[in-house]
This record gives sequence, structure tokens and C-alpha cells, in this order.
Amino acid sequence: MTTKIRTRFAPSPTGFIHLGNIRSALYPWAYARANGGDFILRIEDTDLERSTQAAVDVIIEGMRWLGLDYDEGPFYQMQRMDRYKSVLAELQAAGQVYPCYMSVAELDALRERQMAAKEKPRYDGTWRPAPGKTLPVVPAGVQPVLRFKNPHGGAVAWDDKVKGRIEISNDELDDLVIARPDGTPTYNFCVVVDDIDMAITHVIRGDDHVNNTPRQINIFRALGKEPPVYAHLPTVLNEQGEKMSKRNGAKPVTQYAEEGYLPDAMVNYLARLGWSHGDDEIFSRAQFLQWFNLDHLGKSAAQFDEAKLRWVNAQHLKAMEGGALAPLVAALLQRRGITADERLPRICALFKDRCETTVALADWAAAFYADVAPAEADVAQHVTNAVRPALLALREKLASVAWDKASIAAAIKEVLATHGLKMPQLAMPVRVLVMGAAHTPSVDAVLELAGRDLVLARLQAPQGFGL
Ligand code: GLU
Repeated sequence: MTTKIRTRFAPSPTGFIHLGNIRSALYPWAYARANGGDFILRIEDTDLERSTQAAVDVIIEGMRWLGLDYDEGPFYQMQRMDRYKSVLAELQAAGQVYPCYMSVAELDALRERQMAAKEKPRYDGTWRPAPGKTLPVVPAGVQPVLRFKNPHGGAVAWDDKVKGRIEISNDELDDLVIARPDGTPTYNFCVVVDDIDMAITHVIRGDDHVNNTPRQINIFRALGKEPPVYAHLPTVLNEQGEKMSKRNGAKPVTQYAEEGYLPDAMVNYLARLGWSHGDDEIFSRAQFLQWFNLDHLGKSAAQFDEAKLRWVNAQHLKAMEGGALAPLVAALLQRRGITADERLPRICALFKDRCETTVALADWAAAFYADVAPAEADVAQHVTNAVRPALLALREKLASVAWDKASIAAAIKEVLATHGLKMPQLAMPVRVLVMGAAHTPSVDAVLELAGRDLVLARLQAPQGFGL
């Protein structure tokens, strides 16, 4: 029987989750989904000073928006303290943990001596019990920390799915503090207890945790468990080549929803930010899940590129039917106080090719429902004295033609012929007056969708246009 794959995303809610962080959710989610496994959300909120509910909300909202659904959780580490303490008691009973009374001043002095001797600063095992060893006298009134007895000798090794084999000599690792003087367990211990209790088979996380891994593996073994498979993902850099972080301008994930990005495009873009399937750049969520495995994760840092994200979004937008885009655009219009109607799917279908985001699409759609304000420069350039008589003639014709694309096109053609004009000379001012922009999709299709009343009203002599 093969074990069911179980992965997790374990964010610390200490800042608003950005694209670099959420990629660490996408890959374990995809790996679970691609293999019929389970995906678990665990909130690592033990840093009480820095954790906030608002940050948790952005994590949950961002995952919901991107469709990264989880099978279990969210579990909160702060709610599992009793469990950690009971596992800690087991470890202590098994003699794997010992109290250490070394004061902060003593630790500092030790570090200074080691640095002066050009040694790596590390705890020297003063309080570690050993057969035949006499421990120092326990100082009165001092609450000890608990340290984990890291194995002596040998090495910890694992085959990282991204970085290959990593081997760390146990002599490099000192005895980790796993409980504070007040008895609360520390981070590396909680993670291991959680990964055991949640039966995690694959830990896919940022490579800022590589240094924790050998320590965590040793704790796994002390608890009689084998560690999961690890995949440590390289950092995501921002456009300036620095590690992406909210401190240097990274946006919360949910802001991309506001800016008109599509969840599937976002998943596509994030997937490619550190993973590849041949030369494929644009793919659906289903294709991604079909292709995703841990063997094609990139080894070097990936760099965020907003222009590429926009391009990926535009490709997804183009591939969608007007009917699928309409509800997204309707919601955006609603926020501007505009209620759309049954024309919206056709408006979306007509304009989607020239838009990178749904917000841009909503900008176009708004012109069909609310007043437009053509730029003065466009009016001056296109609505010239030379073309005014033709505009008036067109308006007259449009007042009575059958309202369909072919009849509108025929009316335009007739006016061009009688006034000796070329198509752009008439189409551009019509667009400027009706849509507020000189460049739109084919003018007959736009006018048809705009409807006779609106077209006649906008071609009507508005103040200043002099028609
Ligand atoms: N809470 C850690 C972080 O947000 C992740 C720990 C883990 O995935 O093991 O960086």
C-alpha cells in the first residue's frame, strides 16, 4: 500500500502575504492535488508580538481567491500548546531533553570566547548529562530552558527535491533550546510535532528553512519517526533583485484581485516562477496539475516580473468567453455604481483582446453604461471642421437604419462615399465621441452594442464639440 501524499502550507501571519510567500502554498497544494493527496493549512502564530488576525485573513482570503483549497485546517499552533507540552514531557521522560541553567550573561561570555578563538559560536554542552559527568550546581531561583540532546557524531542527511543531497555533520549542531524557561516549546519543536501529527509526507517550503531541517530531522528521529521528503524552494526576488518582502514594496496577494488579475493567470504565473514544463508559458490550472511534479523545480532564485504577469493575465483573459468574463466585470462595474445588462458578455468578448486586466475591461464596459469624457486632445485632433458635416449626416442616417452591424456598416460606407472621406477620418471621431477613445474594436460592432439612443445622444451637438 502506498502512503497517501499529505502536504501543508505553514505560514507565519506576521505580515501581509505576498506573491513570494504564496508560491510556497501553490506547490504543496498542486503536489497534493496532482497525486490525490491532502493539503493542510497550518497557521504558525507562536510569535505573539508579530502575529495578527489581519495577516491571517489575508492568507485565507488570498488562498480562497487563488483556489488553493485545503482539506484540513486552518490549524493554529497557539491552540496546540498542550499537545506540544505533552510531547515534550515524553521526550524528557525518554532522557532526550535536559534542563540548562546557563544564564544569558554566561552564554554571551561563551560566545565571545569562541569568536575570539575563531570558532563557530555554539552551546558547549555544559549542562548536558553524561555517564560519569558531574554537572554544575543548580543555581537557586533560576528557571532552566530545556535543550534537545542532539546526537553526537555522525551526520544528518536528506535528499532534497530541489537542492539534491544535503549532509550536515552532527558536530555542527549544538543542543537546541526546545522549551523556554516558562515551559513554552520553541519553533523547531512545534513544527516537528505538527508534521508528525498531521502525517505530512512532503514538506515543500522556502529555503530560508534549510538550516532548520537537520535539527528537525534529529527531533523526528528522537520521537521515533522518519522525517518527510523535503523540497526547499529558492527565494523569489523582486524586480530590483532583492528578496521579495513587504518592506521593499511587495503587495499583499489580495491586491492583485483588486487590480483585475484572474486567479488562473496568477496560478499560471506563480507556477512558472520556479518550476517549468518544457517551454510552456501559458497553461490552465488543469494542465498545471497534470504536469506538476517535484522534479522540475528550479534551483536558482526566481525574479518577479510584473510585465510578464500582465502578459500572462492578458493571455488568460483572451482565452475566456465573454460570458465567463461578464460576471467578473459586472462586479467591478457594480462597485462604480453601474448596473450592467445583457449586453455585457458581448461587450467583454469584443474588448477582451485589448485588455490586460478585468479592471481595464471594466473601464471599456463603463463607456456603454455611464457618461464618457473624451480627452480634449482627442477631440481637437479628430473632431475637425472638415469632418463635422459627415458626422451630422451619419447621425441622421443612424436615426433610422435597422440597428444591426451590417446596416450600421452600410450607413457609414454611404457617408464616406458622399463626403469623400476615408474610413479612419470618420471612424476616429465617432469613436472619440461615442466611446471616449480614438482606438476601439471595429466601429460598427461598437455602435451596435452601444445602442441607437446612446449613439445618437453622443453624436448630438454636445457643448464644445460644435456639431
Ligand atoms: N512558518 C514558516 C514561515 O512562514 C514556515 C515553516 C515551514 O514551512 O516549515 O516561513
